[in-house]
Amino acid sequence: MSSTVCPICKVETQFCGRVVHNSPPEVAGVEIDLGDTQFTMRRCPQCRLQVKVPCIPERDLIECYEKASGDHWEETPDPHKRRFDDIERVINSHAEGPMVLDIGCSNGALLGYMGQSWERFGIEPGEEAARHAQERGVEIIAPMLDDCTTEKRFDVILAIDVLEHLHDPDSFIERTRSMLNPNGIFVGLTGDAGSPSWKWHGARYWYCSLPEHQVFFERGTVDQLAQRHNMDVVHYERSSHARYKLTRGVRDAVRGLIWGLGMRMGLHKNQSSPGWLPAKDHMLFVLKAQ
Ligand SMILES: [Zn+2]
Repeated sequence: MSSTVCPICKVETQFCGRVVHNSPPEVAGVEIDLGDTQFTMRRCPQCRLQVKVPCIPERDLIECYEKASGDHWEETPDPHKRRFDDIERVINSHAEGPMVLDIGCSNGALLGYMGQSWERFGIEPGEEAARHAQERGVEIIAPMLDDCTTEKRFDVILAIDVLEHLHDPDSFIERTRSMLNPNGIFVGLTGDAGSPSWKWHGARYWYCSLPEHQVFFERGTVDQLAQRHNMDVVHYERSSHARYKLTRGVRDAVRGLIWGLGMRMGLHKNQSSPGWLPAKDHMLFVLKAQ
């Protein structure tokens, strides 16, 4: 049994719903054996962080990533669809220097998009992805944050689609904070469990049904982390993970609303919810070192 204590505040969390994973459960396209484990969601009464219990061991997830096909590292995501412009806008309005580190930089698409006016560094465990990032002018300094021994300090540290994978977000922020220059910024993009579509489906929300997603932030979680590590929340906005056509947005919203009604009527007991990817269910936030 995993701990039911909030990994940030160390107070006891409260049950807030049952989690149903996709069937068959997959991580990066590779099936993962979850046995007949029943997963629940628990929420911290203090910082509102939601935690999946039990947590899925990191080694099981990494095994899936290692088996995953390398093909997709070739892909260059559409910068407009993936909102690179939004991320860049937020960075430009708060950064005070050129040193940027992207944790989990994948094939370096975002740093490549940001261009050569930045001194670009990355942390990336996937060997093939890291190689592609280097071809884009990114210096890879470590495979994982835990392995990182660099003496360099950064003006901007990015964690895009990373925070939801962490068992211990508090030590992650503590570590990244120590790698920031004075007035350096931490830019995070992750799910927002306080968003309306999420609340409509609760712990059954599509974002929670992915086995690799372990912890779920709300605005209060960001405030709590900032306070604990002497940082200011200088930006917070709700966003969708990617831009979709309006027709897709309408279709998913109608389907999501009806599904949530059905759930309230006792239907869909063992089904994961349909995807609702165009929803504004992510947060983009910036913490600035004091
Ligand atoms: Zn907490």
